[in-house]
Amino acid sequence: MVETDVLIVGSGPAGTSAALFLSTLGIPNIMVTKYRWTANTPRAHITNQRTMEIFRDLGIEDQVLAEATPHHLIGDTVFCTSMAGEEIGRILA
Ligand SMILES: Cc1cc2nc3c(=O)[nH]c(=O)nc-3n(C[C@H](O)[C@H](O)[C@H](O)COP(=O)(O)OP(=O)(O)OC[C@H]3O[C@@H](n4cnc5c(N)ncnc54)[C@H](O)[C@@H]3O)c2cc1C
Repeated sequence: MVETDVLIVGSGPAGTSAALFLSTLGIPNIMVTKYRWTANTPRAHITNQRTMEIFRDLGIEDQVLAEATPHHLIGDTVFCTSMAGEEIGRILA
């Protein structure tokens, strides 16, 4: 028998954030998910400023930065008609 106050299904950004917020507040929770890791594909290349503020509030900013791709390696965002089609433009990500 497993008992918990909150059962979180899914370990994407929504589920993991919920688990971390609840744990930070001392609310018992269990997170279950379909795959052996957070998801079956990569989930983010770029995060916005507000997300980083939330990571800071949760005390994991340093861990996130340590795992992140350094900014100078991120490259450009390319706009094109298809993967092999005409390039319309690009901006520094
Ligand atoms: C390739 C790629 C690149 C992206 N890049 C960016 C980016 O750079 N910046 C950005 O902000 N956003 C990016 N996104 C979008 C971002 O990843 C999504 O908006 C975000 O993942 C949504 O979070 P979520 O928790 O709602 O859902 P998901 O991340 O889809 O999480 C759903 C979770 O539920 C689990 N699940 C599903 N079905 C079941 C089930 N039946 N039982 C149990 N568990 C289940 C899955 O395993 C997964 O863990 C990208 C997405 C992709 C695919």
